[in-house]
Amino acid sequence: MKASKKINILLIYTGGTIGMVKDYKTGALKAFDFNNLRERIPELNQLDCKIKTISFEEPIDSSNMNPTYWIKITTIIEENYKEADGFVVLTGSDTMSYTASAISFMLENLCKPIIFTGSQLPIGDLRTDAKENLITAIQIASAREKSKPKVTEVCLYFEYKLYRANRTTKINAEHFEAFSSSNYPALAESGVHLKFQDHLLFHSKGEKQLKVRKKLNDNIVILKLFPGISLEVIKTILGIKGLKGVVLETYGSGNASTQKEFIALLANAIKRGIEIIDVTQCIGGSVILGHYETSTELQKIGVVSGNDITTESAIAKLMYLLGEEIPKEEFKEIFEKSLRGELTDL
Ligand code: ASP
Repeated sequence: MKASKKINILLIYTGGTIGMVKDYKTGALKAFDFNNLRERIPELNQLDCKIKTISFEEPIDSSNMNPTYWIKITTIIEENYKEADGFVVLTGSDTMSYTASAISFMLENLCKPIIFTGSQLPIGDLRTDAKENLITAIQIASAREKSKPKVTEVCLYFEYKLYRANRTTKINAEHFEAFSSSNYPALAESGVHLKFQDHLLFHSKGEKQLKVRKKLNDNIVILKLFPGISLEVIKTILGIKGLKGVVLETYGSGNASTQKEFIALLANAIKRGIEIIDVTQCIGGSVILGHYETSTELQKIGVVSGNDITTESAIAKLMYLLGEEIPKEEFKEIFEKSLRGELTDL
């Protein structure tokens, strides 16, 4: 009988708590050498896969994450795409949803699993969540069905749940259950068995050749509305030199003040070529432009609806589409469509 080929997993360590161990003398956290992964986590020997690791030379706290690092992660995946059957990317949880969302847009026609994970406690801690997160993330990246990868999208695995990465938000700095995906159910749950919800998994249609998109435009801003925000502040933000896009965090189903001067400032920005994306401040639910009078004007002046996209994903999509220099006339239509399962098509 022919021996089946072992699954190759590439583990990319960028930094964050998961890769830290406590120096018990000083109490300080220091980076852990992933080349000794199997010694530290002998349970990995039970997994039927080969694990290769690539670590950032200088691991970063994810608060220092930025598009240059996103390009670095994407390049590592691109260079190993043929050889590896699946990828596990370890980052700090603080900005993991932004990073994983960005990677989902930067890799088009993905046919292999990319699973982001991290932990709330360092890997060496007694009550650590790191081991379970890491082991199950590797298991998910290795999962096959009829010798094809089970997962073919960018996911985030944390505390027994697998999510579509570009649907997630970090919601808790204390609980092990640190992420939520309010507008899309978990893709899999890990209990006694690892149960996938097959009908929820994303598979890119048509072309199967991986396309890597590395042009990101970071001339964008998040503008969160609050009762009392002054026109001066809005004017100053919209007047930033070179500004190309705004994620406008609105109330409820995409609502904002109807004050004429406020609408005029937004309309003027849109005329100057700035894309304004309406994203709700609510943790769940969707923008529905025109549903209330308080969003009718936004719709009229050409604000783009983010539908039920998260702010993290909107930021990533905006950088990606602006970087791709989508023609002005097509931008709104393309943004409002789901590209990687990041929003629910209306
Ligand atoms: N501050 C850390 C980071 O995001 C927290 C974590 O690793 O979860 O890098």
